[in-house]
Amino acid sequence: MPELPEVESVRRLLTEGRPSLIGTTVDRVEVLRDNVIGGHLLAEQFCQDVQDSVFHEIIRHGKYLFFRLHSARATNNLWMTVHLRMTGRLFLVSDRASKTMYTRLVVHLQQGLALRFDDPRAFGRVWLVEDPAEVIAGLGPDALTVDEDTFLRRLDHHRRQLKPLLLDQSFVAGIGNIYADESLFRAGIHPLKTVADLTVSQRKVLYRAVHDVMHEAVACKGANIDGVFEAGCFPVAVYGRAGLPCRTCGTALVKLRVAQRGTHLCPQCQPIEKVKSLVGGQV
Ligand SMILES: [Zn+2]
Repeated sequence: MPELPEVESVRRLLTEGRPSLIGTTVDRVEVLRDNVIGGHLLAEQFCQDVQDSVFHEIIRHGKYLFFRLHSARATNNLWMTVHLRMTGRLFLVSDRASKTMYTRLVVHLQQGLALRFDDPRAFGRVWLVEDPAEVIAGLGPDALTVDEDTFLRRLDHHRRQLKPLLLDQSFVAGIGNIYADESLFRAGIHPLKTVADLTVSQRKVLYRAVHDVMHEAVACKGANIDGVFEAGCFPVAVYGRAGLPCRTCGTALVKLRVAQRGTHLCPQCQPIEKVKSLVGGQV
C-alpha cells in the first residue's frame, strides 16, 4: 500500500522523469470505471473540464497528489487530485501502450503520451478541485517536512496510543502501516505506549525516527512490499518480518494487532515493561 515515500517517488518520476508530464497537454480523457472519479463530478464533466489543459506542476501532501492544470476553458487553475489508496498506480506511457484489465482512467496527451491510472482493488480516486487547500485542511502537516517543534506541540494534544496516532492523517499526513511500524522500531518505542508514557526526550527520539525513516525511504524511492513498488529499496526492519530475527539484537520479531492493524515489533528493542498506562493491563 503506497505511503508518503512511494507517493513522493511517483511525483518525482512524473515531474523529473524523461519524458516528464510537465508541459504536456491533455488531448482527451477516457474513464473506464465511473467511480474512479471522486466527489460529485460526473465522469463526463471531468473529461470536459480537463480537456485541452496543460500540466504545470505536481505537489504532494501526505498521500495525496495534486496536479496543477492550466485550463484553456477556465480562468482559474484546476487541480486534479489523486489518492492511490490500496493499489493505485500512475504511469506515464506511450499513448499506444495497451491498457490492462485494471486500467481505470487514461489521460491521453497531445505529445503521444498517456497518463494511466491502474488500480486492481479500485479504491483509488481522482478528483478535480479549485484549491488543494480544500483537501489539505483536513490533514495534519506533511510527515516529510514537519519540523520538531510542530510535531512535539501536536503530540502534546494527545493521550492516545502511538500506533493509531501515527496512522491518523489529521495528526501528521503520509504515514501508513509500514512506516508507523518502522518509525516506532527506529525509536525503540513499543506501539502500545501512549503519548503520556513518553518522556520529553523519548518524544524527541520519536520525532527524529519519523523524520529519518521518511527521508531515507524517499531517498530509496519507497519500499518494495509484495513486489508492488519494484524500484523501492527501503530496507524494512520489522514490517512483514514477524518470526524473523531482529537485525539489531537477533530476537524473533512479533506481530500484534493494535487498533485493528497488524503491528510488527521487536520485543527486546521496544520494551513494554515501563508502560505506565498498561500496568495491570494486557499486552
Ligand atoms: Zn531487536
